[in-house]
Amino acid sequence: MNKFMKSCFPFSFFRRLFFSSLEEFKVVVLGCGGGPLETNVSGYLLAKKTAENFIAIDAGSLLSGIYLAHQKKSFQDIKKDEESPYGFEGQILRDRIKAYVISHAHLDHVAGLVLNAPVDTKKPIFALPPTIDYLRDYLFNGKIWPNFGSEGVEPCIGQYRYERLSLKQMAAIPETGLSVEPFELSHPEGYPSTAFLIESSGLYLAYLGDTASDAMGSQKHLQTLWQALAPLLRQKKLRGLFIECSYAEHHPGQTVEGHLDPSYLMRELRALAALVNPARPKKGLKHLKIVITHIKDPFVTGCCIRAQIRKELEKANDLGVEWIFARQGEKLYF
Ligand SMILES: [Zn+2]
Ligand SMILES: [Zn+2]
Repeated sequence: MNKFMKSCFPFSFFRRLFFSSLEEFKVVVLGCGGGPLETNVSGYLLAKKTAENFIAIDAGSLLSGIYLAHQKKSFQDIKKDEESPYGFEGQILRDRIKAYVISHAHLDHVAGLVLNAPVDTKKPIFALPPTIDYLRDYLFNGKIWPNFGSEGVEPCIGQYRYERLSLKQMAAIPETGLSVEPFELSHPEGYPSTAFLIESSGLYLAYLGDTASDAMGSQKHLQTLWQALAPLLRQKKLRGLFIECSYAEHHPGQTVEGHLDPSYLMRELRALAALVNPARPKKGLKHLKIVITHIKDPFVTGCCIRAQIRKELEKANDLGVEWIFARQGEKLYF
């Protein structure tokens, strides 16, 4: 917050009141890790701040994250249906999630969706065509799991209606007041992943699935995404950015291919900042809320990978962005 705002709102209570009135989105973090712990992998519930209906963006952790979020009181604003035969967590899964929006078909982004399908209700899955094809052919194929999808091998249960998103087109998500536009990502080159721009009442959040840096290959998918985000940042319409930082810069035994580490992440953010404010790039992303996702735990004794990545990012942060290190089960506002 700048000095002007601080002088306008000298008391933290009023500051909080003022800024909360500007919030448009809420996000419940069902899982924010990048593995190997299977109970905390990518999954986020997103809704308009005052709404009770969510979309699930990725669904690696689903019910396990809903249980934890309920314990942490992240669903306090959602009414329980006393008539329902299902417990509160089941009601969130069945009745409050209106659609899945999937960045790519890797297991850490879809395992919860697959495992929880037998108790879920009819709803759409939105994704780019290759991701839908992978779900249909390699997961809901009658061999790995029954075919809960709307296409593919018989018997076809049809619980999940496949909705193929198109590039450069916003798709409205029924019953949520939200729309999403997909952008291609490389993860690594040749394997399709997706970023989503989510719109609500003229304001936006951006969520990136797993991604390589443009510096790693010949495709410049991130540059295309940054070109779309830059005008929204200039107009102060982009409320937050979820982006992965899977590795620390020194990651023994791990390879950063197909993912970001702090130096690649800063490289990409500088590219975005230069588009937002070519004359003064260091001002381009000031105060943008950036949620760090998908940290991979190397499982080495004595290594706190979150702390290491936080330290590396803080040291490299010459853009004045606000890092948010999400915790599983918590609720964030944007
Ligand atoms: Zn992946
Ligand atoms: Zn992943």
